[in-house]
Amino acid sequence: MSELIASSSPHEAHTATGEQGCRPGCGACCIAPSISSPIPGMPAGKPAGIRCVQLDNDNLCRLFGRPERPAVCERFDYDADICGSHRDQALANIDELERLT
Ligand code: SF4
Ligand code: SF4
Repeated sequence: MSELIASSSPHEAHTATGEQGCRPGCGACCIAPSISSPIPGMPAGKPAGIRCVQLDNDNLCRLFGRPERPAVCERFDYDADICGSHRDQALANIDELERLT
């Protein structure tokens, strides 16, 4: 199960040990933040609050594990303080971070 989660979530999950990790189907970090690097289908990057075109209907990254996936997406990792315990918390926390930076 943890292998499935790790390979299908938008970001690497810390689920191998059963600890809290990236929630499959969350996708908040693929919507709330701005991404300045090009994304296939979004050559100028992604504005804050706009859904990435590579986020599928299940809120999973279509580019997971592929070389076209932006490096910034590879680096973004689950963080309990940012991700919270619910998608809405993650959206609000990332939105606030965007405003502060
Ligand atoms: S916001 Fe956090 S929990 Fe949600 S998809 Fe991104 S890393 Fe996973
Ligand atoms: S490329 Fe994938 S990981 Fe990066 S923002 Fe888009 S859906 Fe999320």
